[in-house]
Amino acid sequence: MDLLYFLFGSCLGSWICASAYRYNLLELKNEKRSICPQCHQKLPFYDLIPIISWFYLKGKCRFCHHEIPFDHLVCEVLCGLLMVFCMHHHEPLLMCSLVYVLIYAAYTDIYHGLIPDRCHVMMFLIYVLSEPAEWEMQMLYFFIVICVLYLVAYISQGLGYGDVKLIASMSLFISLYKLLWVICIASTSALIFNLSKRKKDKIRFAPYLSFSYFVVLLFRTI
Ligand SMILES: [Zn+2]
Repeated sequence: MDLLYFLFGSCLGSWICASAYRYNLLELKNEKRSICPQCHQKLPFYDLIPIISWFYLKGKCRFCHHEIPFDHLVCEVLCGLLMVFCMHHHEPLLMCSLVYVLIYAAYTDIYHGLIPDRCHVMMFLIYVLSEPAEWEMQMLYFFIVICVLYLVAYISQGLGYGDVKLIASMSLFISLYKLLWVICIASTSALIFNLSKRKKDKIRFAPYLSFSYFVVLLFRTI
């Protein structure tokens, strides 16, 4: 059964990665079929098999030999593994929805340096559909978190407003204590990763936030 979950998750990962890549690219956005972003050739179904296609094509487009980024493969494997993890959680549907929205947010940030508002809307919808108890207190907590973070972002100019909205959306599902853990792990991992890089780019924070969110969910004792 776990293998089926993994396969389904990796298919979902393939779709999420392609959607995130197409976001903001007008020439690809309206294309219904999967095409190569370089030569615009329509891809046959056997080139779209998650994980396997990447290996037998040796990470290159069949037509123009343009490189298929390694992070496509990472996304497919990661989504497969996370699907197995989520399905063993006591709230599988909630976990799956959250995890895949966060992966989409991470990948759009990696590719385009932004987090689409649809991610925050989706997280809010997931929260509402999960029929939360004591939602009034949670809304107050959400409101305080977003105000404080906006203030921090405004003063420091180091935190993007997309990141602010993402952290606030995460706060709908976890306590303040866990949220602080998420921010600490994300900041530390971003700092370590960026220090190890020769070329210093602007840090894209959503992948670190999503990663630390998974860590906090994984280690329930935190
Ligand atoms: Zn191509």
